[in-house]
Amino acid sequence: MADRIPIALEEKFRRRLAFYQDIGIDLFYRDRFPQQTASAAEEITLPKPVQKPQPLKPVSATAQPAPKLNVLPRSPDVSLFESMNKIAGDSLPKILADIGDCTRCKLHRGRNKLVFGDGNPNAQLVFVGEGPGRDEDAQGLPFVGRAGKLLNQMIEAMGLQRKDVYICNVVKCRPPENRAPEKDEVEICSPFLLRQLDAIAPKVIVCLGSVAAQTLLETNRGISHFRGQWLDFRGRKLMATYHPAYLLRNPSAKGEVWKDLQKVMAVLGLQGKKAAPAVSSQSSGKSS
Ligand code: SF4
Repeated sequence: MADRIPIALEEKFRRRLAFYQDIGIDLFYRDRFPQQTASAAEEITLPKPVQKPQPLKPVSATAQPAPKLNVLPRSPDVSLFESMNKIAGDSLPKILADIGDCTRCKLHRGRNKLVFGDGNPNAQLVFVGEGPGRDEDAQGLPFVGRAGKLLNQMIEAMGLQRKDVYICNVVKCRPPENRAPEKDEVEICSPFLLRQLDAIAPKVIVCLGSVAAQTLLETNRGISHFRGQWLDFRGRKLMATYHPAYLLRNPSAKGEVWKDLQKVMAVLGLQGKKAAPAVSSQSSGKSS
């Protein structure tokens, strides 16, 4: 018959077991170990507790954290957003005056007209594109080419008119050959975009295409990773979706964009039209 363990040690085990039960652990396995002397038993570690599986708590949709996004590498001498606080009394006319006849980046060299933005300065919804294309550069207005016509259709399908929303781009001058704006150009110009968004203070920002989305979210992830999700931008709701020019080249993506816009409509309380906007299958030139 095995020796009884000392009373003091037994009491210690009892209190430890009660502790485990208090925290929901009441199932234990006893390790096999050789017979111990009473003095050696003092050194024995307690049996390993087995954690009872706990029921999973449902997580509400609103409690879900925003997806963790990578941060774009920044030029050390240029701070995009972190150092930019909202400027008291800022306004679109003041921002436009501050831009002036801008030569801050190399895009000014090929510019015909600077394309600042267009629409309602108090809009609840702002669309942000990449940069002006040929038509926009000629007219000084954003999204006036074929992609712009499609954007107009999308806006109308949402139950709005173009004058109800505000439309602008990450860079205000046309990149040559309709290339994507380069990192230095985005870094130099995008603080003006940030000021525009702060001045308008919309309820929802829709980024059209990866350049706008990656700029505002400061991420290098592809748009397909976060398209259609609500993301936070300085306390505002941001939705990234495909650029209308992409839809002109890939009409099959129209349905995905329409789903994204329906989420925007729900937030803004818009009924919209019944049918999704028609999309031509002809190839596009570019941009906004
Ligand atoms: S793109 Fe922006 S920063 Fe560059 S020249 Fe035009 S307004 Fe200035």
